[in-house]
Amino acid sequence: MKDETKCIRSGYKPKNGEPGVMPIVQSTTYVFDTAEEIGELFNFPNAHMYSRFSNPTVDCVEKKIADLEGGVGAMCTSSGQMASLMSVLNLCKAGDSIISASAIYGGTVNLFAVTLKRLGIECIFVDQEADEEEIDRAFRENTRLVFGETLANPALSVFDIEKFAAIAHKHGVPLIIDNTFATPVLCKPFDFGADIVVHSTTKYMDGHALQGGGVIVDSGNFDWTNGKFPEFTEPDESYHGFVYTEKFGKAAYIGKARMQLMRDFGAYPSAHSAFLLNIGLETLAVRMKQYCENAYEVASYLSSHPAVVTVRYPGLESDKYHALAEKYMPSGTSGVISFDIKGGRVPAERFMDALKLASREVHVADIRTCVLHPASMTHRQLTDEQLVAAGINAGMVRLSVGLENTSDIIADLEQALSAAV
Ligand SMILES: *Cc1c(COP(=O)(O)O)cnc(C)c1O
Repeated sequence: MKDETKCIRSGYKPKNGEPGVMPIVQSTTYVFDTAEEIGELFNFPNAHMYSRFSNPTVDCVEKKIADLEGGVGAMCTSSGQMASLMSVLNLCKAGDSIISASAIYGGTVNLFAVTLKRLGIECIFVDQEADEEEIDRAFRENTRLVFGETLANPALSVFDIEKFAAIAHKHGVPLIIDNTFATPVLCKPFDFGADIVVHSTTKYMDGHALQGGGVIVDSGNFDWTNGKFPEFTEPDESYHGFVYTEKFGKAAYIGKARMQLMRDFGAYPSAHSAFLLNIGLETLAVRMKQYCENAYEVASYLSSHPAVVTVRYPGLESDKYHALAEKYMPSGTSGVISFDIKGGRVPAERFMDALKLASREVHVADIRTCVLHPASMTHRQLTDEQLVAAGINAGMVRLSVGLENTSDIIADLEQALSAAV
């Protein structure tokens, strides 16, 4: 099936006489006829046991997202941050290290550089434009994974997934991709060698700014028996000697994430959250097309405006990342545009305040056009050096083009730019 069909049909498969729409199964528990059946579930968890780590409504959404990404399984989390954290903790313990591209979401930079460090896990950041030899030098004996973002928030650089997958695999470790901005509709990282995908479903997948969420998707392609990952191939004492590669086969990574991490942390969405997320997913493919079309038109307008110094939108032919975008996101590069206003921080703030239609909010990838000033808002915890590494200038504005009519969006930008400079 194609994406438009999967968005609507994957995941929930009603049987004869069952509801046509995925029901909200609002229950923490599931009952069984015999004690033995429950005991068996601990040996092989093939039914729902407790909603701290699985639930039928969430399960349908997990299947839909796994299908869209082309993976063998998925696990929803309570936020995008929790998806990124768990994707790492599923492979790392204190004393390990990871490698990450430096141009990633500011919240993830903080998670990796500060919070993981407190847990004893070191993150080595690399410039994603660096050549192979330089990236090779970031690898240690204890390196467990490589992490990058398809379309970086908010730098809008395009990550060369194939290049990094080859380097990671050469060192025997998986590549994890944050595919939030591209969504599986615009890019399927598994087709280019990525092993694990994470998303903040809070963004385009939900699409309507209703509720936060995240998801981890397993491609099933990484070989956990390569000798570097004994926690997958040796008995887990915390789970009565369960061996993940034996019990879950290709889905060992996502099975372990659920049975070990989600069991212990419980950062699982409610059935109601999954129900709302599913409504967003049903229209994801059609919305992404329209976001790309609208943003292309707005980016073209901005790039010829005298008050705008630079526009970053990889869909534009003039963009530095256009060639990579053509390869990884041939049908468009989402609704997000970053641009620098002439004069830097002060005019950027004046521009923000003058907007009448676009919402000033700490959000992105909403159905409503919204705007944010990274240097004073989402990224204010970063040092100037980290700001530069993340591709952010003080005068940069991140514009998330919504699905209103583009003539209204452009008229609003026009009057706010006139007021700003
Ligand atoms: C927002 C975002 C996150 C974090 O997700 P939350 O749902 O806010 O926790 C991670 N990665 C990217 C690219 C994001 O835009």
